[in-house]
Amino acid sequence: MSESPYRIHGATGEWEVVIGLEVHAQITSNAKLFSGASTEFGAEPNTQVSLVDAAMPGMLPVLNGECVRQAVRTGMALEAEINAWSRFDRKNYFYADLPQGYQISQLYHPIVGEGSIAIETGEGATRTIGVERIHIEQDAGKLMHDQHPSFSYVDLNRCGVALMEIVSKPDMRSPEEAGAYVRKLRSILRYVGSCDGNMEQGSMRADVNVSVRKPGQPFGTRTETKNVNSVRFIMATIEHEANRQVDVLESGGTIVQETRLFDPDKGETRSLRSKEDAHDYRYFPDPDLLPLELTPEFLDECRHSLPELPDAKRRRYEEELGLSAYNAAVLTAEADTARWFEALLAESALKQARPQEELAKAAANWVTSDLFGALNRLGKDIATSPVSPSQGAQLLALVADGTLSGTLAKQVFEIMLETGDDPTAIVEARGLKQTSDTGAIEAVIAKVMAANADKVADYRGGKDKLFGFFVGQTMKAMAGKANPQVVNELLKKALS
Ligand code: ADP
Ligand code: MG
Repeated sequence: MSESPYRIHGATGEWEVVIGLEVHAQITSNAKLFSGASTEFGAEPNTQVSLVDAAMPGMLPVLNGECVRQAVRTGMALEAEINAWSRFDRKNYFYADLPQGYQISQLYHPIVGEGSIAIETGEGATRTIGVERIHIEQDAGKLMHDQHPSFSYVDLNRCGVALMEIVSKPDMRSPEEAGAYVRKLRSILRYVGSCDGNMEQGSMRADVNVSVRKPGQPFGTRTETKNVNSVRFIMATIEHEANRQVDVLESGGTIVQETRLFDPDKGETRSLRSKEDAHDYRYFPDPDLLPLELTPEFLDECRHSLPELPDAKRRRYEEELGLSAYNAAVLTAEADTARWFEALLAESALKQARPQEELAKAAANWVTSDLFGALNRLGKDIATSPVSPSQGAQLLALVADGTLSGTLAKQVFEIMLETGDDPTAIVEARGLKQTSDTGAIEAVIAKVMAANADKVADYRGGKDKLFGFFVGQTMKAMAGKANPQVVNELLKKALS
């Protein structure tokens, strides 16, 4: 099963890369972690800042229960240990985008302990990557250095927004594995509904820890590249950073534990500061907050509210719906896709009395080829598809009952994409129905044969391959509307 491992070929031999990711995921919630201010993305600067977020004297944090619930549900989805008793700590530092002068986080007693994520590593092979912990903490605001020639501005809208920090074990060994891990984690968060996973909007970003070693040796010293905000950049960071470390080590240098930044324009990392240790932050339990104790009823509710997750769904698509491994993987990779596909299947079952497996196969093939192809072309994703599952089901039903041939269905689909109209309406209005009218088809066949008497003679003389030519001519003369099966039968008869 195992492919050849990822290695960097240095002058002194092969090096192995060791990767651990700390993913910051913004928790889906209307309000911030300790205040009632809105979390909506894209608002005017400093319009979503409560007195708590601005750290006015005397203000006290009040924990948002929904954020706790989402973190617990996420932990359960990663089959992690849930700590019924956890506590908040202050991480002290000065930074202009955090008026409190400390971040409320969970160092000593995080809400979620060890879990795992299964990733696919090419041709059907899977690997399990350990998750060390998940804790909840506040986000900071945003400094804006490009608004004024000599001043920096600060936007505190993001200040106090709830984050989950999902810390992996140093279990990944290649940029591809790290990419697969982040994609799978994002998929699970979206299924659970605990984070929207929009990396472009900063809802999910990763601190990328990288070290290198000779295979079989103990772990080397790591560097941490902060706030990398796309799967592609995460992979590029690892690639660049691992090669840089090999170069340093092979030229006799040492790696210092430090914090680095990724420069997307240059595709390289550079040093930001030497890495702090936990004790530098003078962590201590936040005296404004009681320890967090979760009741068995709360935990039960969290567990029961979990949806079917991608791995289970994928297995069910293969085993119950009889889909190919490829279709099952593609249709379950994102929650939005699976939701759309299941709505299409439910609508199809209402319109066609056929076994579920047949319906599923037709629906899966249509979604993965026609629909995905169209969405790709239009630069849209399935959530903004111009065609609804119910319209898709109508189209599939028209194919199944013989009203539309495959060719006609593709034409109708193009019109659906342009107009948003229902396929039944399009077929009516434009007369795109396929005909099985044998009289009409026979008349066209007679004309085609008369116009190509030489080819008829050749065919009858043994040039079987010409059959396709007659099918093509007949279909063309009927503007694609003839039932291909009927055309085949009638042509065979006429030519024999
Ligand atoms: P900190 O908060 O100081 O960055 P953590 O222990 O919380 O430290 O996180 C460390 C991260 O670095 C984890 O994701 C872990 O898997 C990863 N890591 C630890 N040691 C190594 C190493 N030698 N090489 C690569 N990654 C490492
Ligand atoms: Mg860190």
